[in-house]
Amino acid sequence: MTSILCIGAGPAGLTAAYELVRHKQSVTVLEADSRYVGGIARTIQESDEKGKFCFDIGGHRFFSKSGEVVALWNEILDNQMMKRPRKSRIFYGGKFYPYPLDLIKTLQNLGLIESALCGLSYLKARVAPTPNPKTFEQWVSNQFGVRLYLTFFKTYTEKVWGMSCKDISADWAAQRIKGLSLSSAVKNAALRTLGLQGKSKIKTLIEEFLYPRLGPGMMWEVAAQKIDAGGGKVAMGQRVDSLAYDVGKQEWRIQARSDSGTLMTHYATHVISTMPLRELVHAIEGAPEAVRHAASQLLYRDFLIVALVLNDKKVFDDNWIYIHSPEVKVGRIQNFKAWSPDMVSDPKLACYGMEYFCFEGDGLWNSSNPDLIAQASEELVKIGLAKPEDILGGYVVRQPKAYPVYDQVYESHVAVIRAWLEEYCPNLQVVGRNGMHKYNNQDHSMMTAMLAVKNILAGKQEYDVWCVNQDAEYHEVDSSGSSHGAGGERLVPKGVA
Ligand SMILES: Cc1cc2nc3c(=O)[nH]c(=O)nc-3n(C[C@H](O)[C@H](O)[C@H](O)COP(=O)(O)OP(=O)(O)OC[C@H]3O[C@@H](n4cnc5c(N)ncnc54)[C@H](O)[C@@H]3O)c2cc1C
Repeated sequence: MTSILCIGAGPAGLTAAYELVRHKQSVTVLEADSRYVGGIARTIQESDEKGKFCFDIGGHRFFSKSGEVVALWNEILDNQMMKRPRKSRIFYGGKFYPYPLDLIKTLQNLGLIESALCGLSYLKARVAPTPNPKTFEQWVSNQFGVRLYLTFFKTYTEKVWGMSCKDISADWAAQRIKGLSLSSAVKNAALRTLGLQGKSKIKTLIEEFLYPRLGPGMMWEVAAQKIDAGGGKVAMGQRVDSLAYDVGKQEWRIQARSDSGTLMTHYATHVISTMPLRELVHAIEGAPEAVRHAASQLLYRDFLIVALVLNDKKVFDDNWIYIHSPEVKVGRIQNFKAWSPDMVSDPKLACYGMEYFCFEGDGLWNSSNPDLIAQASEELVKIGLAKPEDILGGYVVRQPKAYPVYDQVYESHVAVIRAWLEEYCPNLQVVGRNGMHKYNNQDHSMMTAMLAVKNILAGKQEYDVWCVNQDAEYHEVDSSGSSHGAGGERLVPKGVA
C-alpha cells in the first residue's frame, strides 16, 4: 500500500490525514509542536489557581462557502459546533465605531465637517482615481477616498503588517476587500441601522459564525484522535528538517528532529507538506541555488498574544475590537468569553487577548513575558477597558510566521519554487497557508488538502491545488445574481487536462 506522510498537524495536514484514513490509506503526520495540534488554529490551555483559561492565536471564526469544508467540520465534531453572533467594533481617536459600520453612529463619531470632507475625498477618487493601482494605499484610496482610507484602513493595516501601505501590493486589498465599495458599505450600514439586512453577504461583513465550544483547537484535537483511532498516526514533537527523493526506489526519505535533538527517519511514497514553503525548499536535498534564493525572499509577519486574566466587570461584550489608534501598539483585543463562555472556567473572571503584530526578533518579540504583560495591561487601561486593580495576570504566546507577506515580488518567487517542485519533486504536494505562502483561512487550507488527497487517490495530478480560488470563498453571489462555482460554493478547480 502507498505510504503517505503529512508534514504539520494544522488544519491542512490533519484534513489530509483524516481524508486519507477515510480511504484506508496508510498515513503518518509529523508535527513539530510537542503539545498542541491545530497549528495557528490551535487553542492554548492554561491553568493556575485562578482557574482554566482557553484562548486562540487570535480568535478563529469557522465560516466557509464550501459545503465540503463545513460538512467535514460537522463530521469531526458530530455537529457540536455553536452558532455565535459576531460583535466587533473599531477604536479610533478615542471613539468606538460599530463594525460592520453603522451609518448613524459612524457619522456621529466623525462629526459633520469630517463626514463632509470624507464625502468630497470619495468623489475626488471617483473622478480621478489612480490608474492601475499597484499598492494597497492606491487601491483602497481609489475605492473609498483618501480620508476614509486614513481613518479606517491605514493605521490598522500598518500595525498588522509593520510596513507602509505604499509598500503593500494591491493584490491583497483586492483579495480581502473585493466586493466592498463605499456604496455597498454605506448601503449595508444603512440597512443595518434601519434593522434590515442586505441580501448579499460580503466577506468582511459576516455577522454569524460557527465556533467549537472549547475553541478551534477542539476541532483539531478531535480530528487527531479520530485519525489515530482510524489507523493513522499523528506523531508530535517531530520537526522535519530534511527530505530527499530516491529516484530508483521512487520514495521520499524524510528526517525529523525531536526537541531533544533525536533524529528520526521516515520513508513515504507521497508527501503532503504544510510546513512553510521557505523552509521546505531549504530542507529538500539538492534544491538548486536559484530556487533556494527565491525561497529565502519569502517574508512573514509574526504575532504575539498576551492573554490577560481579569475580574469580569462586563465592560464589553464584543468578540473583538480593532484598535486603530496609533497611541497604543495593541492591534486587536479579543474577549474569549464572548466567543464561548466555556473558554474561562470561573464566571467571575474574563480573559482578553491583546494581539500584537510584530517581527520575530524585534523589540516586542524579544521583550520578556512580564514586560509584555505590563505593557498590555497599561494599554488596556489607557483604552478604557479595564481598571488596573482588576487585572490579575496574564500569559504570553509567540506565533512565528503568522502571516505570509504579499509584497511586490512574492509572486515571482513562488512561481520559481512552484515550477521547480512540479518538475523535480515527484509525489510531493504543498498545501495550506504557509505551505503555499497564501494568506488564507482554514477553509482554504482544508480545501487544498482535500484536493491533494484526491490526486493521490486518483494516481495522477487531477487537480491543481494552486487553482483553489481564495477570492471566491465568501463571495457567493455577485451583483448579477450569478454564483462562482457550483451551487455558489467555493470555486473548486477543474481537473488539469
Ligand atoms: C491572528 C490570526 C487569526 C486567524 N483567524 C482565523 C479565523 O477567524 N478563521 C479561519 O478560518 N482562519 C483564521 N486564521 C487562519 C488560520 O489560522 C490558518 O488558515 C490555518 O491555521 C492554516 O492551516 P495550515 O494547516 O495550512 O497551517 P498552520 O496552521 O500553520 O499549521 C502548520 C503546522 O505545521 C507544523 N510545522 C511547521 N513546520 C514543520 C516542520 N518542519 N515539521 C513538522 N511540522 C511543522 C506547525 O507546527 C503547524 O502545526 C487566522 C490566522 C491568524 C494568524
